[in-house]
Amino acid sequence: MSNQNPLLVPPAGTPPRKIAVVGAGTIGPDIGYYLVSALAELELLLVDIDGGQLERAAARIVANAAKGVARGKLSAEAAESIEGRVRTSTDYSAMADCDWVIEAATEDLELKRRIFGAIEAVVRPDAWITSNTSSLPAERLFCGLEHPERATVTHFFAPAFQNPAVEVVAAQACDPRVVEALRSLFAATGKVPLVTADALCFMLDRVFDNWCNEAAYLLDRATAAEVDSVAGELVHAGPFFVLNLAHGNPIIVETNTLQMEEEGEAYRPAPIFTSVKTWSTGPPGGTVDVEPDTAAAIRDRLLGILFSQSVDIVDREIGGAADLDLGCKLALGFRRGPFELMEELGDEEVTRILARLRAERGALPMPSRAPTEYRDFRRHLLVDDVDGVKVITLRRPQAMNALDDTLTDELLGVIVEHEEDPAVAGFVLIGYGPRAFCAGADIGRFPALLGDAEAAAEFARDCSRLLVHLDGMSKPVVAALNGMALGGGLELALRCHSIVAQPEAWLQFPEVTLGIAPGIGALVVPYRRWPDAAPRFHEMLRAARKLGAVQARELGVLDGLAADYPDLVRLAVTRVHELAGKVEPIPEAALDLPPFPPFAPANDAERGLCGEVIAIIERAVRDAAAAPSLAEALEVGYLAFGASACTEAARERIHAFLGAGR
Ligand code: NAD
Repeated sequence: MSNQNPLLVPPAGTPPRKIAVVGAGTIGPDIGYYLVSALAELELLLVDIDGGQLERAAARIVANAAKGVARGKLSAEAAESIEGRVRTSTDYSAMADCDWVIEAATEDLELKRRIFGAIEAVVRPDAWITSNTSSLPAERLFCGLEHPERATVTHFFAPAFQNPAVEVVAAQACDPRVVEALRSLFAATGKVPLVTADALCFMLDRVFDNWCNEAAYLLDRATAAEVDSVAGELVHAGPFFVLNLAHGNPIIVETNTLQMEEEGEAYRPAPIFTSVKTWSTGPPGGTVDVEPDTAAAIRDRLLGILFSQSVDIVDREIGGAADLDLGCKLALGFRRGPFELMEELGDEEVTRILARLRAERGALPMPSRAPTEYRDFRRHLLVDDVDGVKVITLRRPQAMNALDDTLTDELLGVIVEHEEDPAVAGFVLIGYGPRAFCAGADIGRFPALLGDAEAAAEFARDCSRLLVHLDGMSKPVVAALNGMALGGGLELALRCHSIVAQPEAWLQFPEVTLGIAPGIGALVVPYRRWPDAAPRFHEMLRAARKLGAVQARELGVLDGLAADYPDLVRLAVTRVHELAGKVEPIPEAALDLPPFPPFAPANDAERGLCGEVIAIIERAVRDAAAAPSLAEALEVGYLAFGASACTEAARERIHAFLGAGR
């Protein structure tokens, strides 16, 4: 079986040096921009039959790079390099030396087949060929190829350079190593590849197309603006707004006709799609008054189609439940995934909603098992076995792998499940993707704690259950920092029995910038484990200064550095084996901490930090150091978090932070 985390092993062979995108219309240039900005050495070739499209596509890439520079996301040199690496051609023979050709031409089976024949005639027999089709199975697209083992579907979502989701289809004729290499390349370049079976419309377009189709059927009792308004509770932009944006009406007709032909009459595209070009609706976030019965009907039917498609996707193994929840959020803008919604609503309500869908719309898929059975999966963790070690990947890419209650509970659950198993040597914790180990803990629940010291301290105690469990373990847990480790994420890493990292990783406690003290170990654990590095921890806690992995290694906080992600996993697994039987508990004894030097801010941001919160932090660090046991020291930390939650700075800054994120 392939690894759940695509980055655990290096991809076979060298990364592609020249990639062509065939079809430079709406999405082709955006796929090209993603590739040319993610792969620094890449030469990108855009191919189209229409020279005008090519000119516009190249200009779009240049404009995107300029926007990147204006927003400070890209250096001027990087933008210049991108421009210099893009070529265009109307001649297919220019693709002869490409390592990968991605087809993004008009959605038409016969046309695409002709295009693939023409591509295969010019490229090497081992060059990858993939299609960005929204709906057409690989089996039908590539059946005429001489070498279908290098061909599959890689389905991007608009805007393709920003939207992290990509469906990678596990086509039957395609060599599984090609699918693996594609997953790995996507994950290494910041995408979130979701593997699906080779079914019509794959996984996410099944949801999206039928969601839009259902919205159109609801027009017999509501306006497009009313449907979008009610849908706004579930998605960031309503179906009609998105259809306008993507000029999507013909696509729904096309894809739902295919589904109807194969899967039944209930998929028939709503007739209104052929007579309307643009829907009359407002922008996302806008609401209109909707009569309660109508609103209830819209909500039921939209939820009904979402649940119907979701259980069908899982039952037919088109995609996994965790990928579906994640993909709906990342690719389609759902606020919560379908299975999260099912859990929130409860079985009775889900059953009622599905019964209504069936009564009003006919034979659409229904659950084949009890609703609870569909919810039995891990939401945010991938678990792999590497040399007798459980490698646990934190996967919440929408929040840079930040901790939430579900993730923390799942993590504790996996550890408890395997810690007594003699076949498991220990655990490695690592973050998904190239950027973050874990960006902290969700602070969504903080506003309710502001001004209530006791509730806030209790919250910190509760959040510490996993960490206290780690303190008591004799089986090693190693944190592998593949990127930033912030706040609660760093507190998690500090409780692991060893930490290793990539050199670009960094450690930071940003809490003071939010007017709070970090409450789940930061004021205690680093001092007890590495007392000589106390001056650096003071800076980190009082001024939120970053500590780079290389410096952290010099201080002894890290036990090793590894050049890339697969090497990091290997190093972490080796550390687990080295630590077998040698896990050292965090020292219990009180610590003789030298007095804090006066706080010396280094810049305006540090000068703007709240003195009251800094004083709470300093006092807690001193009191925790003097505490005669680890448990008492940790309690000092929980109480300090509680005290900081009552400051004016916390109130202002947390509200400002949450407001800015909206
Ligand atoms: P589009 O109509 O905007 O562009 C298609 C391009 O293909 C045009 O520039 C056209 O000139 C070119 N073309 C046609 N025949 C060609 C040929 N023989 N050789 C080379 N180029 C040719 O379409 P689009 O919206 O960019 O969609 C392209 C593909 O991507 C479709 O399969 C679509 O289903 C899929 N897709 C699109 C989106 C999206 O948001 N637009 C999202 C996901 C998937």
